[in-house]
Amino acid sequence: MAAAILAGCGAPTSESAAQSATRYDLTYTLTPLPREQVVEVEMELVQSRRLLREMSFAIGRAVEIDGEGEISVDTGNDRVRWTPPESGGTLTWRVELPHARNGSGYDAWLDASFGLFRAEDVIPRASTRTLRGAASRTRLRLELPAGWSAVTQYQRSSRGGYRVRSDERRFVQPSGWILLGDLGVRRDDIAGIRVAVAAPADHDARRIDMLALLNWTLPEIVRLVPEPPPRLTIVAAGDPMWRGGLSAPSSIFVHSGRPLISENGTSTLLHEVMHVLMSARAEPGHDWLLEGFAEYYSLEVLRRSGSLTPVRHSQALAQLENWAGTATLLCGGESSGSQTALAVVTFAALDREIREHSTGGHSLDDVLHDMLGADAAFSLDLLMHFAAEYIGENPDALHIGKLPGCRNMAPASTTSP
Ligand SMILES: [Zn+2]
Repeated sequence: MAAAILAGCGAPTSESAAQSATRYDLTYTLTPLPREQVVEVEMELVQSRRLLREMSFAIGRAVEIDGEGEISVDTGNDRVRWTPPESGGTLTWRVELPHARNGSGYDAWLDASFGLFRAEDVIPRASTRTLRGAASRTRLRLELPAGWSAVTQYQRSSRGGYRVRSDERRFVQPSGWILLGDLGVRRDDIAGIRVAVAAPADHDARRIDMLALLNWTLPEIVRLVPEPPPRLTIVAAGDPMWRGGLSAPSSIFVHSGRPLISENGTSTLLHEVMHVLMSARAEPGHDWLLEGFAEYYSLEVLRRSGSLTPVRHSQALAQLENWAGTATLLCGGESSGSQTALAVVTFAALDREIREHSTGGHSLDDVLHDMLGADAAFSLDLLMHFAAEYIGENPDALHIGKLPGCRNMAPASTTSP
């Protein structure tokens, strides 16, 4: 078995002998059991010497953890520690999949007709101790019931399964949305991105509508980000899934009953597309920056693409401004509702200010581009820094008096009276 896996995961020709000597093979095999609503996970490690010394992860929803080598399961601290045999071995566990979100539908599901979940739901994020310089060569395999197919964020490899890549990390685990079942899939190349829209065949999802909206808007979104991903996978499904949209690495879930553009002019799909293309994280208390940019630009690209008239776009912003009036906080907590509306209003004011004060026609686009290029977690400091570069001073739109709850998070120059 181990020999077969080694042959199957052999080094690609571009990998040097020296690189190959420090690679260990990790193959995750997911076996959905629809009747039990359970996914069985087998993680197989193959290494020529002791490269991966130890792996540890939160137990989370994993049960029946078993395998070769030394396994310690510390339920008190919610931690599994695995010391694999020198040449590798397997670790297996099971996860009961259905997971309710806010009592209004599921964000992970499996039954006899389809499965929809994130790889992170069944493969807990782990940390490793390795020989210096060692890196994983990770694969994902799916053992599906007869008649089922799968869509993931990854490209299927010619050897079967999926090669899981990451340019930055030495230890890579599968991530993103996974859809299983009797699926209908439509693919297009849009603005240099390979886009897939998938849904169970009988779920009434509007795949071509979604591709049409993305054909209008994705070129505008791609201009905003320094490094758009090569692939974008959208999975849609109806009930009993949660009636909203959720983003994960290079992939999005959206309930198939959601309109592409709501009556108030906003778009759940484009909001989540913004999250995926930004692929940004925020400092604690600064979730409003991520939600605000996603919402602001989901509206803005609809206007720029001609999908919303300028009048309708202004009406949408006016509605958000009304809602923002009820916000008691901008910084702090998970941003939603009025807090995100206030973030959008703040960004609209900041954009106007940059356009008025900058020579050369700069805008908030440049600030977002700079923030993403900085490769740092989003914070008010970072926003202030890049916005001030175009305005020549600290922006009035970010005066601390206009940002409830942000006083202790702003740079010193704006907190002084
Ligand atoms: Zn969001």
